[in-house]
Amino acid sequence: MRCGLCGLIATSGVCEDCLAEFKPIESPVEALSTGPVDFAICLYHYQGRASQAVRRLKYDRVTSLADPLARLMATKARELTIPRYDLVCPVPIHWRRLCWRGFNQAELLARDLAARSQQRALLRIRATRPQVRLNPQERAINLVGAFRANPSVYGQSVLLVDDVLTSGSTAQACAEALKVAGAEKVGILTLTKGG
Ligand SMILES: [Zn+2]
Repeated sequence: MRCGLCGLIATSGVCEDCLAEFKPIESPVEALSTGPVDFAICLYHYQGRASQAVRRLKYDRVTSLADPLARLMATKARELTIPRYDLVCPVPIHWRRLCWRGFNQAELLARDLAARSQQRALLRIRATRPQVRLNPQERAINLVGAFRANPSVYGQSVLLVDDVLTSGSTAQACAEALKVAGAEKVGILTLTKGG
């Protein structure tokens, strides 16, 4: 097979040379004291090969990247000391975008994480404008009422999973919905940060 990033022959969807170019974040686990998100874990800087990986998976639909990236997320999550969690919850995308793209990249990235996974813990009930072109304030407003959590999250610690953490407004909107439904703790794990 070929590396989904450099195009050279490789034994996995991402070759070792490209993987070695991912720039790790020095202190990836961060406890947050304000807002509904209790902790954030971001593995790599959204730069170079890592940002290319996110974009090629999400926009170019190079799904051969999903397996190696999901394995990477799971391996890193095991290596790091992260707070205990009961559920893994990929940040949902609206069904219309799901139909258009064919997959939810967050779901693909989360599939190797060990937990009583519950994909339907959180629903995206409202389509929103893409966050990319909005400023932080507009991003927060854009997401009001966008998510609803399943009551089964009551008393649970939930680990949200996404490809990239930017302003954090999506994570906050998800966490808020989960906490309204009674989730005890909410953290987020993303492959990259920034961008
Ligand atoms: Zn490569």
